[in-house]
Amino acid sequence: MPEVRNCHRCKKIFMYVTGPQICDACKKIEEQEFERVRTFVRDFPGATIQEVSRETEVSANLIYRFLKEGRLEVAESSPIALQCENCGVRIKSGRFCVSCSKKLASDMISAGRTLKESFRDRDGNETGPREGGLRYIHGTKKD
Ligand SMILES: [Zn+2]
Ligand SMILES: [Zn+2]
Repeated sequence: MPEVRNCHRCKKIFMYVTGPQICDACKKIEEQEFERVRTFVRDFPGATIQEVSRETEVSANLIYRFLKEGRLEVAESSPIALQCENCGVRIKSGRFCVSCSKKLASDMISAGRTLKESFRDRDGNETGPREGGLRYIHGTKKD
């Protein structure tokens, strides 16, 4: 369902559907800025975020966002230091290094499994936690 929101960039009211909360006009501008940054980084792989920002007139925050979203990749020799949010190793794009993203994905799967197993263990069957939850709600209601 589209709803009326304020654009994060220009503060104008627009019909928001999905994705980043910016209006169509700003989306177009952002695409142009992305192209400028991408071209600049390709031509000047040794530039820092500050230099890229100054030369392309794109805010450093937006450049970081492009990097985190994995849309932009820095060169091996680039002084732009992007770090894995989990282990701090230097990465070229995105939020996590390859080994951490693999590890996080499998952690999430095993965490879900452990949760289910611990529910079953507590009362010996799967309906256990649901009954416990109901008892708790009844208790608080009485109080
Ligand atoms: Zn806008
Ligand atoms: Zn990592």
